[in-house]
Amino acid sequence: MIDVEKVRADFPILGRAVNEKPLIYLDSGATSQRPVQVIEAVAAFEREHNANVHRGLYQLAAEATDLYEEARAKVARFIGAVPEEIVFTGGTTEALNLAAFSLGETRVKGGDEIVVTVMEHHANLVPWQEIARRKGAELVPIGITPEGKLDLGELERRITGHTRVVAVAHVSNVLGTINPIPKIAELAHRVGAVVVVDAAQSVPHLPVSVRELGADIFAFSGHKMLGPTGIGVLWGRKELLEELPPFLTGGEMIREVWIDRAIWNDVPYKFEAGTPPFAQAVGLGAAIDYLNGIGMEEVRRHDIALAARLLEGLLARDYVTVYGPQDPEARGGVVSFNLEGIHPHDVATLLDQEGIAIRAGHHCAQPLHRVLGIPASCRVSFYLYNTPEEVDTFLSALDRVWEAFH
Ligand code: PMP
Repeated sequence: MIDVEKVRADFPILGRAVNEKPLIYLDSGATSQRPVQVIEAVAAFEREHNANVHRGLYQLAAEATDLYEEARAKVARFIGAVPEEIVFTGGTTEALNLAAFSLGETRVKGGDEIVVTVMEHHANLVPWQEIARRKGAELVPIGITPEGKLDLGELERRITGHTRVVAVAHVSNVLGTINPIPKIAELAHRVGAVVVVDAAQSVPHLPVSVRELGADIFAFSGHKMLGPTGIGVLWGRKELLEELPPFLTGGEMIREVWIDRAIWNDVPYKFEAGTPPFAQAVGLGAAIDYLNGIGMEEVRRHDIALAARLLEGLLARDYVTVYGPQDPEARGGVVSFNLEGIHPHDVATLLDQEGIAIRAGHHCAQPLHRVLGIPASCRVSFYLYNTPEEVDTFLSALDRVWEAFH
C-alpha cells in the first residue's frame, strides 16, 4: 500500500489552498504535480552541472552529458528497453509527429491504409491525417463497443494487406479504457504493419514493458509522470529506428556534413537535432527514481482503488452518466462523466469554488465525443497522491453542483 500521507508531504503544491479550500487536484491526466525530489534535481543540475551535452571537452560538459545519458538509461530500464532505443523529445505530441513523419516517408504510399481508433487523442490522430493527405493514403477509424472498449472484431476485419500503420492509445485519456496492445500488435504484425502506441496515459500509471507488449513505437510525456514539462520519450525498436529517416535535422543529429549533403548520426542521436531538453531529462530521471521507490504495481493498485470508489459513487447517482468500462480493472486512473443537463464547464467552475480541480471539455478527443453524442465531458484523473477522502469530498461537492441547478 502507498503511504499517501508520506507521498503528499513530497508535493509542495498539495499544501496550498484554492478559493480558501484545501486544493483537491483531480487533473493528473492533464499534467501531474511534481515532488520536491524532481524540483530539486532540476535545480541542482542548473546550479551545479549546467553545460550543453555532447559538445564540450571540459569537465562540466562531461558531467552534464553523463547525467543526460544516465536519465536515458533510467527511462530505458523503466520500460524494459535499452538506451539506444530511447529518443528524448519535447513530449508525446512531438514523439508522435516524429513517428508519423518518419514512417510516412518510408512506409506509406498512395493507396495504403493507416488504422486509427475513434478514441485517439488529437496528438495520435491529426499527424496521421496529415500523412494520409500528403501521401494519398486512407485513414481507417476503428470504433468502440457500447461499453467503451475498442471494437476488436472491427479491428480484425479492417487490418488488411493494405494496412501500413496501426496507431492506437494504450489507455484512453477520456474513457480510461486499456487497449489490448499485444493482441493489436499480433494482428498488425501478421500483415507487416507497424504499431505506434500513444502511451501518454499508460507509462505514468501502469507497469509497462515495451517488449512484452510487442508494439513497435511508444510515445509518452515526462510531465504526466511527475517529471518536468518539455521532455518526452519516443521508444522504438532499434532496427526500425535505424531504418527511419530523421524528423528534425540540424546540429548533433549528424555524423558528417558537406556543403551539399550530410550523413546521419547513430540512433538515438539521429532523432535528437539541436540542444535537447537535458535539464528536463535529468528531472524525468528523478521522477522515475521516485516512481520506482513507490513501485508501479502499487501505483496501479492505488489508481484502481480510487477509480473503484469514484465509479461506485458516480454510478449510484442517477443524474450522472459515466463513459467507458465500469470495471475499474479495465481502465486507467481516468473517469469521465456528465451531469444530466449541466454543461461540464459549469460543473468544473462550481467545483473550483470548492478547491477541486477537474478537467471539462473535449479533452483533445473531439471525434470520440462525437461518437458518444456529447459536445464535452467532465474528467477526474488520479495519481499516487490522491486519497479516498478526496473522492468522497468530490462526490458530495458534485451533489451540491446538481442541487445548485435544481
Ligand atoms: N495522448 C494522450 C492520450 C494524452 O492524454 C495526451 C495529453 N493530454 C497527449 C497524447 C499529448 O501529450 P503532450 O501534450 O504532453 O504532448
